[in-house]
Amino acid sequence: MTTASRTLDGAAPGTRAVLALGSNLGESRGTLASAVADLTGGDRVRLTAVSPVVRTRAVGGPEQPDYLNQVIEVATDLGPYELLAHCQAVEQKHLRTRTVRWGPRTLDIDIIIFGAWTSTDPRLTVPHPRAAERAFVLKPWSLMDPAATLGGVSVAELAANAADLPGLALFQEG
Ligand code: ATP
Ligand code: CA
Ligand code: CA
Repeated sequence: MTTASRTLDGAAPGTRAVLALGSNLGESRGTLASAVADLTGGDRVRLTAVSPVVRTRAVGGPEQPDYLNQVIEVATDLGPYELLAHCQAVEQKHLRTRTVRWGPRTLDIDIIIFGAWTSTDPRLTVPHPRAAERAFVLKPWSLMDPAATLGGVSVAELAANAADLPGLALFQEG
């Protein structure tokens, strides 16, 4: 079983951002591991916490394989749009193709929160507008950070009420 871990103490400088990763094509477990390494390998985006990997049934979109999902917390000196560009570059590196909306993909990286910054820009909406109803984001996030809140509400509580929670299980390594 994968376990949540916090790799740096709470005093790491920079903006705390929460990123949600998903993959349901190719070697998804390896893709997530290398995406986390790619995202946080430079000195401007530092890994501060990582969730367990969960396996989830796809919601919305066409019939497609189960996803592996993981949430990480980073401390970053980048601005929000720079972080988005960084996430999209990592998606591209993993040969992300965009065909059908909500269709299968090798790698998807969403910015869930970026410090206390908020935005309604369609190019970068923060907090992510659909995160509060997605167990595949909320559950790993709450396992990583049981005290996390989103819009003033406990992430663990939001996870418990998410409609897709029954389709989620901890991913078993090996
Ligand atoms: P969903 O947003 O419902 O999870 P998706 O991840 O499949 O769907 P994408 O095709 O990956 O959607 O992204 C479409 C666009 O969403 C991106 O080009 C990006 O500019 C925009 N976007 C808006 N807000 C965010 C955010 N918080 N994180 C990542 N991308 C975002
Ligand atoms: Ca997404
Ligand atoms: Ca996305």
